[in-house]
Amino acid sequence: MAAFGYLADFLAREIFMQAAVGAQVILLNYAMVQRWRLLNKKLLDVEHNARTELELKVHERTAQLRSTMRELEKANRQLATLSLNDALTGLHNRRHMDNLLPELCAEARRTGQPLTIALLDADHFKAVNDSWGHEFGDRCLQHIADILRRHVKRPRDVAIRFGGEEFAILLPGTDANGALGVCEGILEDIAAIRVPADDGTPVTLTMSAGTATLSQGDDERDLFRRADEALYRAKACGRNRTEQATPEVS
Ligand code: GH3
Ligand code: MG
Ligand code: MG
Repeated sequence: MAAFGYLADFLAREIFMQAAVGAQVILLNYAMVQRWRLLNKKLLDVEHNARTELELKVHERTAQLRSTMRELEKANRQLATLSLNDALTGLHNRRHMDNLLPELCAEARRTGQPLTIALLDADHFKAVNDSWGHEFGDRCLQHIADILRRHVKRPRDVAIRFGGEEFAILLPGTDANGALGVCEGILEDIAAIRVPADDGTPVTLTMSAGTATLSQGDDERDLFRRADEALYRAKACGRNRTEQATPEVS
């Protein structure tokens, strides 16, 4: 403007120059602020995307971990079942009895409810194996287990195969007479079965049983010993029968 003669006055020229510089500074500042905002927005977007991605990954990993833990728990349960069950018959095994019997004795003492156990042993089972083979003997043991399962039916009753041809039933809340009834039913059903051998011969089986009811001062070893003595008597008295232990006199 000065060049074209519009601004002759020096002071006015100076003022105008300063105004122009001021306007430039303001424009520059404005551009810088805009640039800073843009960069800041980009930074926030990057941060947001990274966080979302990380959250997704954490989510994914957590789901994987949960599923692995579920599988592990399932495997542990299967392992626990296997370690407490007998592979041939599916009944509980000796380890389960060893864990459970002390608990049942303590509970019976605490509540005053009766607890009766019975030990059952297949009669002359060696002869069965010798005559018809071990595999046939195994099949007989499975038949015996099926019969035990049918008779031992209260929710808290437990049937156990604790040795080769030796079984036990634990009957919490059942007195001596009740257990005698259960054993007689089992022995009757076992004597009635005919297990077909490979050549079709129907083979009969019998079992003997000894029962014992928890007396005052008994622990699980005393209870087991008294049931075993009763079983021994059942064998000595001709087998295929149930004998009851007499209560311990203390
Ligand atoms: P008792 O009437 O006195 O009990 O005679 P027993 O022949 O049954 O008694 P003993 O204890 O002499 O023999 C038990 C037999 O049970 C020995 C073995 O041949 C058989 N046995 C033990 N475990 C198994 C098993 O898992 N499978 C089969 N098939 N037989 C078994
Ligand atoms: Mg036997
Ligand atoms: Mg035996």
